[in-house]
Amino acid sequence: MLVVMKAHATEEQVRAVCERIQRLGYRAHAIPGAQRTAIGITGNKGAMEAGTLEEMSGVQEVIVVSKPYKLVSRDVKEEDTVIRFPDTDAGFGGRQLSIIAGPCSIESREQAFTIAERVAKAGARFFRGGAYKPRTSPYAFQGLGEEALKIMAEIRDRFGLRIVTEAIDNESLELVAKYADVIQIGARNMQNFSLLKKAGRTRKPVLLKRGMSATLEEFLMAAEYIVSEGNYQVVLCERGVRTFADHTRNTLDLSIVPAVQKASHLPIIVDPSHGTGKRDKVLPLSRAAVAVGADGLIVEVHHDPDRALSDGMQSLLPDQFDELMAEVRQIAPVVHRNVPEPLAQAALAKAVK
Ligand code: PEP
Ligand code: MN
Repeated sequence: MLVVMKAHATEEQVRAVCERIQRLGYRAHAIPGAQRTAIGITGNKGAMEAGTLEEMSGVQEVIVVSKPYKLVSRDVKEEDTVIRFPDTDAGFGGRQLSIIAGPCSIESREQAFTIAERVAKAGARFFRGGAYKPRTSPYAFQGLGEEALKIMAEIRDRFGLRIVTEAIDNESLELVAKYADVIQIGARNMQNFSLLKKAGRTRKPVLLKRGMSATLEEFLMAAEYIVSEGNYQVVLCERGVRTFADHTRNTLDLSIVPAVQKASHLPIIVDPSHGTGKRDKVLPLSRAAVAVGADGLIVEVHHDPDRALSDGMQSLLPDQFDELMAEVRQIAPVVHRNVPEPLAQAALAKAVK
């Protein structure tokens, strides 16, 4: 259920409604909008009597949200969610595209710094790198763990890049939340409900990847788990789904971008690296993702992909990433977006010292 406040409702009136909802044993989520505040009501006790709230001062109407996802839906918040990072122009949503780039896994300090310098020079604002890797084989490289997180924290200081990295379980989540700027929840964990709830109790933005066979509704319900715990900073990510097609690793479902944008106010970015699994498909699908209206890209880049410990086949060389940035920079204005310019050379030079 959703309480829609009048346009001129006061803060006290909003607070009084929230308190009443809580006294009734539910959770209240006040969501300020450009025109008015809406208060989402969650709790699993079944239907609630609207009457008591309808009478309260400042309340315009009480409506039932028919979709199973509530807080992530456009019915509850009409405007796009925009996530900002203090002291930078980095963010998710809004006019500027969010460009995340870096290796699949952090393998060494030298590897991570070499790649970070190149992606920063190309204009990326976020650096990705796995510290904890969900691998199909228990014998494959599992990530450097906390050591990798420390390397990425240094990269943030040196290059001014915000750090995006995956948490695979409750234990790694605590460490990732401590060191990183954005907590990634991977495709394999999209329906790990206890992990989603725990991410919802942190106050760091969460990048939620679509499960390999998740429907739009399942995807949004996973986001709802995070938001219902009070963390409203969720970014969705399309990374390809399993189909019969075998010319790519996964089938990148770009049509989910406008579908998500219609149903939800959350930003959605695209991962053309896992979405195709093949280096030569990453550039064309990046162009398409920007053209379809995605809020950003997450791209794997490696300076020596033949020797990468994971996902070398789909990693771009730094020069290819430069080309990608140059091309999407031209496409972005057609969809009223822009691609960030490289951070001021002076700032980078100073940082690299
Ligand atoms: C990754 O980003 O390296 C990753 C493992 O992604 P996904 O969860 O989409 O497979
Ligand atoms: Mn990967």
